[in-house]
Amino acid sequence: MTPLGARIAALIETSGPISVSDYMALCLFDPEHGYYTTREPFGEAGDFTTAPEISQMFGELVAVWCYRAWTAMGAPLPVTLAEIGPGRGTLMRDMLRTLSQIDSSLVASADIALVEASPRLADVQRLTLGPFAGRVTWHAEAGGLKSGQPLIVVANELFDALPIRQFVKAGGEWRERAIVLDEDGGLAFAAGLSRPDASLLPPDAAAAPEGAVVELAPARSAMMASLAQRLAEDGGAGLFIDYGYLEPRTGDTLQALRRHAFDDVLAAPGEADLTAHVDFAALSQIAGSAGLTTETMRQGDFLLGMGLLERAGRLGASMDDAGREQISAAVERLAAPDQMGDLFKVMAVGQPGMSLFPFERNVP
Ligand code: SAH
Repeated sequence: MTPLGARIAALIETSGPISVSDYMALCLFDPEHGYYTTREPFGEAGDFTTAPEISQMFGELVAVWCYRAWTAMGAPLPVTLAEIGPGRGTLMRDMLRTLSQIDSSLVASADIALVEASPRLADVQRLTLGPFAGRVTWHAEAGGLKSGQPLIVVANELFDALPIRQFVKAGGEWRERAIVLDEDGGLAFAAGLSRPDASLLPPDAAAAPEGAVVELAPARSAMMASLAQRLAEDGGAGLFIDYGYLEPRTGDTLQALRRHAFDDVLAAPGEADLTAHVDFAALSQIAGSAGLTTETMRQGDFLLGMGLLERAGRLGASMDDAGREQISAAVERLAAPDQMGDLFKVMAVGQPGMSLFPFERNVP
């Protein structure tokens, strides 16, 4: 068992079962042994590779989206340009490089802010950003972002890392899934005592069989609600990219990733990444009830709509065959339906009535 696993087992032994959301929070953010607080998750040598780490084109196209959103708002200054959960800082680095080329006055005058819960990753971001780091402020929570001025905010693979609650159907009833100790002192799942609010369950929950799992994500809802409130009050727009589904449904999506392979969720607390698929309908509903315009589409459609193929062509024009091959492999990986193109979704939110390119192409 990992050191964190031993601590969790001792905690359960003395204070009783813990919820899936407490387990996730401990595994990801325990100050001493948490995954994001202590490990290097990203890239070939890590556990998973995210879109900005696959190709600079991802950050370039997100930058163009932000620029279009800013001009659609009337190019207000001052403005805050923020990213939440920046990982190694690659997305913001590529965005700032691109935005400087499009309109250097925006990068020169915007308040550029990174929201990062892990102090260790904030240090990595400082290094990645290089000369741009002097323009950036860091915040431990999104609530720390400057208010009273418009906000353009992006987040890639943030919501999947926020703790979820799970409920399991046991004896015909939904009960909160808990983590207990098995006979050998190892970690195991069990049906706990608390019950979910029935109004929050997806439509297919009533007919779900024994053992089925439903997920609710209050931490995600709270993050979305506070961002939506900020955007409604101060104006602005947001782009949230993650893997997940568009219609609410039952199903266990909690997963552990270690060295680019799936692992048992309870096998290596603190040493594997834990994530769950994002319910985009829930997020969109929260943004909508704050009065914001919201649109969601598949990542592949979003990137193609933003000009991925044209950008790949231009980037490849000055390269040799090997370079061009790398670029077309990146296009495939980011946008092909059987790779990240369909599983990943992009949700854009904006102040009421705002046109959210390229999403308006969806509107008949
Ligand atoms: N966006 C990056 C990293 C994704 S991993 C990329 O695409 O490569 C998730 C990131 O979110 C990590 O940086 C993690 O430390 C951060 N994170 C998780 N929960 C957070 C929270 N509540 N507030 C801010 N950052 C958080």
